[in-house]
Amino acid sequence: MIEMRDASKRYDAGTPALAGVDLSVGQGEALAVLGPSGSGKSTLLNLIAGLDRPSQGTVTVAGLRIDELSEAASARYRRERIGMVFQFFNLLDDLTVDENVILPARLAGMSRDKARARADELLDYLGLDKRHARAYPGTLSGGERQRVAIARALINRPALLLADEPTGALDTASAAGVTDLLTGLNRDGQTILLVTHDTALAAACAGRTIELVDGRIARDVRAVAR
Ligand code: ADP
Ligand code: ADP
Repeated sequence: MIEMRDASKRYDAGTPALAGVDLSVGQGEALAVLGPSGSGKSTLLNLIAGLDRPSQGTVTVAGLRIDELSEAASARYRRERIGMVFQFFNLLDDLTVDENVILPARLAGMSRDKARARADELLDYLGLDKRHARAYPGTLSGGERQRVAIARALINRPALLLADEPTGALDTASAAGVTDLLTGLNRDGQTILLVTHDTALAAACAGRTIELVDGRIARDVRAVAR
């Protein structure tokens, strides 16, 4: 699903943010990326999301050479092939929950009826009811908002779900709920790459963990059994 070959990113003359990273992530895997601040985690995520290009090397996701996409193709790739979940949810506060979830499907050309049916199914799967669906994000708890963000990320059935500190802004109970959700999604076959400091999330959800240090993969560990 993800193939990075000798990927490096250099922003300036100093130490590279990523240095010769080789990484293969298979379909159905859940990979957690750990590492201290400044170790290159965001840079890695940005290269996979096509938000930034490597200075050297190649990035292939779901058969697409992400490092060679035009701006338009890259935007389309983000809209239709990957789902992204962030620490602070990034929901649109002027739209209701179901409008937030439906938007990426409409932008990808899905009919209103199909998008609405898929949103209802997802919200249900994620434990949100009709009352939540008609509410505005600002009236929901952090844990509920992150569920909405996950529903939005999944509406176009992405090949890959990218999550950047998805439990970073949540209390312990909400974080545990989101952890269960991501773990269940992976069990159902969703490929997930998550950047996190939350070791409980990494341990529960990820079958494999890599640790970045100074832009290099310092450790690559597979869980024996979960
Ligand atoms: P992490 O996400 O692990 O904290 P980052 O990928 O954000 O690490 O950063 C890796 C290194 O690259 C850091 O030294 C950071 O300061 C540097 N860096 C990241 N983005 C930029 C940028 N846009 N311009 C210059 N340096 C950057
Ligand atoms: P993180 O919490 O992932 O470490 P940061 O707060 O370090 O994020 O960085 C936030 C944003 O700033 C990112 O988009 C990153 O690429 C950019 N950035 C990080 N370090 C630098 C830098 N030294 N110069 C310019 N941009 C940077």
